[in-house]
Amino acid sequence: MADLTSEITKRRTFAIISHPDAGKTTLTEKFLLYGGAINLAGSVKGKKTAKHAVSDWMEIEKQRGISVTSSVLQFNYDGYCINILDTPGHEDFSEDTYRTLMAADSAVMVIDASKGVEKQTIKLFKVCVLRHIPIFTFINKMDREANDPFELLDEIENVLGIRTCPMNWPIGSGKEFKGVYDRTDREVSLFTAAMNGQKEVATERLGIDDAALADELGSHFYEKLQEDIELLDGASSEFNLDEVRAGDLTPVFFGSALTNFGVENFLQHFLKMTTAPLARHSSIGDVDPFSGDFSAFVFKIQANMNKMHRDRIAFMRICSGKFEAGMEVTHVQGGRKIKLAQPQQMMAQERHIVDEAYAGDIIGVFDPGIFSIGDTLTTSNEKFTFDGIPTFAPEHFARVRQIDTMKRKQFVKGISQIAQEGAIQIFQEFNTGMEEIIVGVVGVLQFDVLKFRLENEYNVDIRLEPLPYEHIRWIENPEEVDVEHLSGTSDMKKIKDLKDNPLLLFVNSWSVGMVLERNEGLKLSEFGKN
Ligand code: GDP
Repeated sequence: MADLTSEITKRRTFAIISHPDAGKTTLTEKFLLYGGAINLAGSVKGKKTAKHAVSDWMEIEKQRGISVTSSVLQFNYDGYCINILDTPGHEDFSEDTYRTLMAADSAVMVIDASKGVEKQTIKLFKVCVLRHIPIFTFINKMDREANDPFELLDEIENVLGIRTCPMNWPIGSGKEFKGVYDRTDREVSLFTAAMNGQKEVATERLGIDDAALADELGSHFYEKLQEDIELLDGASSEFNLDEVRAGDLTPVFFGSALTNFGVENFLQHFLKMTTAPLARHSSIGDVDPFSGDFSAFVFKIQANMNKMHRDRIAFMRICSGKFEAGMEVTHVQGGRKIKLAQPQQMMAQERHIVDEAYAGDIIGVFDPGIFSIGDTLTTSNEKFTFDGIPTFAPEHFARVRQIDTMKRKQFVKGISQIAQEGAIQIFQEFNTGMEEIIVGVVGVLQFDVLKFRLENEYNVDIRLEPLPYEHIRWIENPEEVDVEHLSGTSDMKKIKDLKDNPLLLFVNSWSVGMVLERNEGLKLSEFGKN
């Protein structure tokens, strides 16, 4: 199986995460440029225009200028086959981002040098740190006035709790950005911005001991660099590949994506430091990516990418073996064999049909409504499941009122399908059925998405009445306590999920403790059972 081994060995699958506007799109675009996937950077996602050609499936994206969905791009570079998982660039969509991270083997964190670690992104970045996937930091926009690089590193270490190891070091910033010093080669790459970064740039490099360097940089920057190097060599963490791979140390690179400075160098280092897909944990232990059996798990379901058909695409990450078009696999959670029809993949900006794919790749398959997030598919005779994808506790709730009650069926179908995709969670009043639906979301923008989609895709108008609850707890042991007669607090509401599991909503977090105190033996959990 030399073919399988070599194909998988050259795979690199990573997610790019950043706060909106830090430069994720620009960096991705430059990566593709090096991969030869596009000729002229800028043609992939010119923010307001072409960008939406890739993920233009919802008006809301255009209206708000944000990317709601995440897409996958594949390209080849230097013998590697690279899968980039783009994540939605909006804090409200962090749940989708969390799931996307489950499908990635490493993450590239893009930080705006003039802003540092931004508040809204802390939670998201921390998930990466907690997952212990390798994180590579690209500090972008050095061609603009930037914060002090030592302070930027301190911030990453203190706020995110991960040690940093600068691989290169910036010399000046903004109008006085002179270039970067490569700590491994002990060479300075001089900054030149070519054609707004649309072409690949050949940078001039000078050794740190080269007599010409002082002239190039000017004495102020030359001396500052010498001081900085001394400080760095003495104070910063030493590079250690094992620590990088364990997610304990993040290599940091400074550059400027827009002017295409430092991008290729970053890509090269990154590819060397990351690994091919590793074994994944499952109910029967680790699954070897090189195993002859195909296996994958669903991490994302996206509806209506094609407005003409009401189709859904289930995105799955292949964890082992080879996928071949038309292949029959066991859908473990569904308990039956299915044929994976019409798999698709994103190649640069186009979706196309794939005939084969390997461990590390992401494929999207047509979903007639049978898949849920976290489902396992495999050709193995042994029925195993990959570790589930955690659902996040919703923090905002609203009651859904249907305006035209004649369209009950469409309404229930629409809202159930949207819930299945994981964008929202739906609940019912404790003592009634689907007549009263309560929706919970992680980010409030999802309310707008829900309303918009029900109107546009299911032709159902709804009104959302916000509820004041912010905290949700599932009752873990309903059989052991008298759920009907719990002694609650005035700000508590009892509801149930679609599987009839009872749960409680609270306005104030302190009420949670109060209810636990008042009801002996009661066990509460922040997470629902799948
Ligand atoms: P995203 O929201 O993270 O995908 O950010 P974009 O890649 O769309 O970039 C946001 C804005 O910052 C755009 O106007 C880019 O042209 C600009 N930008 C990105 N990288 C750089 C950079 O290195 N230097 C400068 N000056 N601007 C940049």
